Amino acid sequence: MHAVGFDLDLTLADTRAGIAAVYEALAARLGVPIDVETVVSRLGPPLEQELAHWLPPEDIPAAADLYRELYAGIAVPATTVMPGAHEAIDAVRGAGGGVIVVTGKNTRDAWRTVRALGLNVDEVAGSVFGAGKGTALASFGAAAYVGDHVADIAAARAGGSVSVTVATGPYTAGELREHGADVVLADLTEFGGWFRTWRADAAGV
Ligand SMILES: [Mg+2]
Repeated sequence: MHAVGFDLDLTLADTRAGIAAVYEALAARLGVPIDVETVVSRLGPPLEQELAHWLPPEDIPAAADLYRELYAGIAVPATTVMPGAHEAIDAVRGAGGGVIVVTGKNTRDAWRTVRALGLNVDEVAGSVFGAGKGTALASFGAAAYVGDHVADIAAARAGGSVSVTVATGPYTAGELREHGADVVLADLTEFGGWFRTWRADAAGV
């Protein structure tokens, strides 16, 4: 049985429009200019890390609270599912494997996103990034971790999982390969084919 972990933003969920709208609202409320296009071009790292590009350190905690207050009402309804996401999850479940979402997004909003998109997952572990995702992957027993960010490769390594990447986020297939991903897919529509081959290889068929 092969349990698989998936990243959320730009792996399973296209959150760009939703996150852009939250940052627009945040910029208006705080009266601070934020280049939203730049923000959505580098999604993946924790919210506080992104806010640090635009705000002095002392203003970050309150801005992060406001962002999270706005997120459910603005971003979740504007989020769409990435091509192949449902089919990728079905491929794992069809083989009897569990599915966990491991994401930098806080767990509450991650669950809201998962439910809004109808993603059929067993568990969600939120507010983790890079190697910090490894603990969640290991305790779930995820044999592979699928993500779009180079930090997701480090996450897979830390969790003892195979690093599967999709070039649907900030990095090209070539860049993901250079950063040491075990598997590089153009997008999740290619996941099922890879997964079946991987399982067959592991079974020695
Ligand atoms: Mg991501």
